[in-house]
Amino acid sequence: VKYPLAFERLVSCFNRFQGIGRKTSERLVFDMLSRWDSEAIEEFSHALSGLRQGVMTCPECRTHIETLPCPFCSDERKNAKLLCVVASSKDVYAIDTTNLFPGTFYVLGSLLSPLDERGVDSMDMPLLKKRVHSGIEEVIFALDSSLEGDATAAYLRNELAPLSLKMSRLATGVPVGTSLDFVDRGTLSRALSGRYQL
Ligand SMILES: [Zn+2]
Repeated sequence: VKYPLAFERLVSCFNRFQGIGRKTSERLVFDMLSRWDSEAIEEFSHALSGLRQGVMTCPECRTHIETLPCPFCSDERKNAKLLCVVASSKDVYAIDTTNLFPGTFYVLGSLLSPLDERGVDSMDMPLLKKRVHSGIEEVIFALDSSLEGDATAAYLRNELAPLSLKMSRLATGVPVGTSLDFVDRGTLSRALSGRYQL
């Protein structure tokens, strides 16, 4: 016997999440059906349908934010000569909460695969270069300590080399193979203060 069609549709939606497989998706939908009341399901559906309208991407730093002016770009106390390059919006929020990075941000959107340069388009290099041209003196790469993070840092270093900037990368405080979002605040702050020059 097959699952009901509506059940199946929701399962395949959950299944799109990274790291959530078919079995987990089924468990989530069963949980919803057996434990959530209709109000909770309604709220979930409202939250989903409002996501696109309620979240925008800053045209300068590309962080997911609520509204313009961007809280990360428009803060007068930020050092506009210092730019931190990260893979995703969640890294911007993570670094911001440490209160230890005084500069501005740029979100790449993805990391490069070490074997080819897939992902270059989503980084929007023209926008990054334009950003760097607007008075940036130091760029810090806050990227995962992984093959992808290394490939991305190497690619960006080459691309930005003609602009004669100071470039650095987060220090070894970030364990090899660890994503930035799993790193605790103490480790992240040590990595930020002990960054090494490229
Ligand atoms: Zn911004």
